[in-house]
Amino acid sequence: MTLHLPLTQSYTALGPRFFHAQEAEPVAAPELLLLNEALARSLGLDPEALKSPEGLALLSGNAPPAQHSPIAQVYAGHQFGGWSPQLGDGRALLLGEVETPQGTFDIQLKGSGRTPYSRNGDGRAWLGPVLREFIVSEAMHAMGVPTTRALAAVATGERVQRERAYPGAILTRVASSHIRVGTFQYFAARNDTEALEALTAYALKRHYPDAEGPMGLLSAVVAAQAKLIAHWMSLGFIHGVMNTDNMAISGQTIDYGPCAFMDGYHPQTVYSSIDRMGRYAYDQQAQIGGWNLAQLASALLPIMGGEEAIPEATERVNAFRDAYQNAYIARFGAKLGLSDATADDLPLITDLLGIMAEEEADFTNTFRALTEGHNPLPDSLAFAAWHGRWQARTPDLQMMAQANPAIIPRNHRIEEAIQAAVAGSLAPATRLSEALARPYDPPEGSEDLRLPPEPHEVVQTTFCGT
Ligand code: AMP
Ligand code: MG
Repeated sequence: MTLHLPLTQSYTALGPRFFHAQEAEPVAAPELLLLNEALARSLGLDPEALKSPEGLALLSGNAPPAQHSPIAQVYAGHQFGGWSPQLGDGRALLLGEVETPQGTFDIQLKGSGRTPYSRNGDGRAWLGPVLREFIVSEAMHAMGVPTTRALAAVATGERVQRERAYPGAILTRVASSHIRVGTFQYFAARNDTEALEALTAYALKRHYPDAEGPMGLLSAVVAAQAKLIAHWMSLGFIHGVMNTDNMAISGQTIDYGPCAFMDGYHPQTVYSSIDRMGRYAYDQQAQIGGWNLAQLASALLPIMGGEEAIPEATERVNAFRDAYQNAYIARFGAKLGLSDATADDLPLITDLLGIMAEEEADFTNTFRALTEGHNPLPDSLAFAAWHGRWQARTPDLQMMAQANPAIIPRNHRIEEAIQAAVAGSLAPATRLSEALARPYDPPEGSEDLRLPPEPHEVVQTTFCGT
């Protein structure tokens, strides 16, 4: 079986300031752990060929693509509000792009070894974060959220040293591109207007062909991010590390490090071990999204005409607020079966969330119970009163069934899958992934995956994907 992988590499045409040509560091004993066959086929790739020794060599970084060298992309970013002028793919490599009827997709290895942007890192990933990203990003896709995808997870046969030694792994990530807010910031910080122009043209062509110029790009990204973050909120998703280098221009969710889905509803929920100030808490995400977009606007300013463009750029960034509000109302409206939700329905939404917070009600199961006609809070008088108001709006249950997943990737289940995988069994990870592929119509026998954690199963913190 020969692997036919028609990879192109359009990003290199932007010029040498954008990347470093870099081969992966070979690994000792690659072994295919998970292959996303449906995704492979949708990219026009033959799953059997990817499973062949030649395919495994590519997915482990042991053999470069036939056509060209892989590259590490450079970017900068605000991490937890602090400026880092030099980041980049420190443990990732772009193998190239595939063209499909749905557009162009990057194929990237994550955990493939050191690059000039590794700083003090080892360029590697261990099995835990690789499995987490595989499971969660595919679950997000199944729930309809724009996201990077996971094509494969490969064990390296080597150990990676973190708090202790863990089995190493490499994820193959598929994205509509890896251009970040931080990519623009990198060139803006160097006063490289030529690069900013070229990157803007490239991003427009690839993601927003109907938009024009840097203003058009800004508005398109504002609109995409407003929708994306409202979608996260409607699912109880906490990204956890919304640094500007982790915000994609495409509007896809990217970088599943310390992310998590909430179990019990509490708006200030934080999971990330490194987010000590709660900067990226559940209820801060929209505001942080707006802040990141303001950073994109300032990065684009030099090619928008400088200071004179500030009022218009500001207006376009401020459009985020209404766009987000509208998307939020539409998403939460759909969760309550209101097809024509408007701002007048906000009290109905926020009152329910207030009761849920008071009761620490499970976010996902409360909405799903409403969808399935059960009472999620039988002991709450406040809920009973709310329920009457809601019923008066004659909710559309069909609509609710498409907006309220029964199964989400709960943290304790991901941890369980990771622990089993470290001990040598992929069965829990596979079972979880299969159930998550049908979040709105869960397969029989998956009832246990709907349950919130028992007190001893609660995962308090998640760690960055390193
Ligand atoms: P993240 O917080 O995961 O988005 O990563 C922030 C930056 O740290 C990026 O430039 C990454 O490439 C880099 N990085 C993270 N983990 C590693 C690692 N194990 N080795 C080298 N660089 C890393
Ligand atoms: Mg990142």
